[in-house]
Amino acid sequence: MENCIFCMIAGHELDARVIYEDDTVLAFDDITPQAPVHTLVIPKTHFDNMSADVPVDVLTALFSAVPKVAALKGVDQSGYRVIVNSGRDASQSVAHLHVHILGGGAMSHGMVHFE
Ligand code: AMP
Ligand code: ZN
Repeated sequence: MENCIFCMIAGHELDARVIYEDDTVLAFDDITPQAPVHTLVIPKTHFDNMSADVPVDVLTALFSAVPKVAALKGVDQSGYRVIVNSGRDASQSVAHLHVHILGGGAMSHGMVHFE
């Protein structure tokens, strides 16, 4: 998709700190980390968000990559949080489906903060 920064990263047209890649997904560190470990996993093909009729094989690849990326980042034993912001009310800011992996320190239990 044109003008989509994550499509550009997936196509290696825009630099990113790539952690993991296979035929279907790419993982790279978030440019504005909100935790000591903050890595994003994206499908290489464009889907706006979780509600964009994402094929099950893409969802499988996306979520299968999560524990691999967690291990590569060294947080598989300590634990990590997995977040997908999907759509307006979730404040999704990049309209290309992505999974956040956050870790590297103990987090509070709450995960929902309304404006
Ligand atoms: P969200 O708010 O869930 O849409 O998350 C989008 C995330 O993408 C934010 O955490 C941004 O810091 C991150 N981000 C935006 N541009 C880039 C980029 N060029 N490389 C890596 N991460 C990015
Ligand atoms: Zn895209």
